[in-house]
Amino acid sequence: MYGGLPEGETRMGKVLQWLDAPFVLRRLMAARQSLADATPLTRDCGSLCGAACCQPEESGDNGMLLLPFEERLYHKPIDGFSYELRPDDTLYKGGWRLVCDGQCPREHRPFACRVFPLRIRIVDAGQEDETSVQAEVDPRAWACCPLPEEGGLRAVRADFIAAVEAAGHLLTGNAYLLEALLNEQRMLDDTRKL
Ligand code: SF4
Ligand code: SF4
Repeated sequence: MYGGLPEGETRMGKVLQWLDAPFVLRRLMAARQSLADATPLTRDCGSLCGAACCQPEESGDNGMLLLPFEERLYHKPIDGFSYELRPDDTLYKGGWRLVCDGQCPREHRPFACRVFPLRIRIVDAGQEDETSVQAEVDPRAWACCPLPEEGGLRAVRADFIAAVEAAGHLLTGNAYLLEALLNEQRMLDDTRKL
């Protein structure tokens, strides 16, 4: 949807996106805010693993996928946060990935960093605000995070799980954000089958 418009509809599509952007961003920022203080463990889990999920990969092929319009929150420099935005169509055509140097002010973390090592699974895509979601362990977390091996969902705080699901419910009430989450889910489910 976002950026993925047929030739000829591009100009109209861009106008629609421009009109939709404030509504999408409002949802997204509310979802980000609902996770502002939520953490997987009662103590700083980064001290367990040296903040493994924030460490740059040698390949340089790391970074967090941004949700639709989230890149707009990173168009201006942010004090104490060194990052770059790279085009990435994984979640939606015309999407972006934020690549950081491993440190950021907590209040500026992308959505994907706030829910990690969990992710939002769409259980039943219904009408707006009626979609069911569940938090699940992000399969990508197995590569760097000790928590999946420590029991996965059982290893993380119940209020963190609840906050991830509440944020998911906010996101799925918007078609752009729902579409991006569904695309991610299809991609991860396809990878699981391999
Ligand atoms: S890798 Fe897992 S345990 Fe380590 S900081 Fe990230 S979420 Fe916490
Ligand atoms: S943006 Fe912040 S939380 Fe996310 S990977 Fe980079 S340093 Fe870690």
